[in-house]
Amino acid sequence: MVHCPNCLLKDLGKIGTAQYYCGRCGIEIVIQGEHLAVFQVEEDGSLSSLDDLFSDEERRINTEASPQLIQKASGR
Ligand SMILES: [Zn+2]
Repeated sequence: MVHCPNCLLKDLGKIGTAQYYCGRCGIEIVIQGEHLAVFQVEEDGSLSSLDDLFSDEERRINTEASPQLIQKASGR
């Protein structure tokens, strides 16, 4: 489940295959492996990274909800 690392909102708008937008903060969240990259959308449409504002822990994707994968791995 992808969440906004800033306000912890989980109801993010999906804008691409691995890109989400938090309408509350006005920031873009991009999935990069097991972590989230956070960008602020500037007025001219360019993106500036906000990764420095968040720790690795805060940007880590919460992978608690994957029981199917666990079952597949141990189901033999
Ligand atoms: Zn937010």
